[in-house]
Amino acid sequence: MYSEAEEVQQLAEVVIDQHGDSLQDVYGTACRIKYLFKDSKKSQYLGKCSRATGKWAHLVATDYVIEIWLQWWKDALPNAKKALLFHELRHIQSVEKETPEGDLEINWKIRKHDAEMFVDDIALFGTWLPVHTEILEVCKELS
Ligand SMILES: [Zn+2]
Repeated sequence: MYSEAEEVQQLAEVVIDQHGDSLQDVYGTACRIKYLFKDSKKSQYLGKCSRATGKWAHLVATDYVIEIWLQWWKDALPNAKKALLFHELRHIQSVEKETPEGDLEINWKIRKHDAEMFVDDIALFGTWLPVHTEILEVCKELS
């Protein structure tokens, strides 16, 4: 069951303002995002960002839907809520495209994760992809 998540939208706006440099595709753009709570006993995800496309985007005047699992949200710490919203907002990607008439239009995409991995990948084989090195650098800065 889904319900409108005004609380999530308000926090997302704070996150967008605070991290506009990393969220350039949404900061100050015409991107239309709707936020929903997913109310269910179990969920395969904490949050999920998906595109509204074609006739549905037109009918609901929405480019993206960000769903948040309500049962997790209720008990999550403020920093974790912000981190999840930042993550979901990072999935939003605008790609400029030239129309046959020579006008520029924005195509909305879902940005893929920087890395898909297991901790053992690095534990056993080291930083064998450039993104592993980036992750390691961030961890060093944090420690
Ligand atoms: Zn993700």
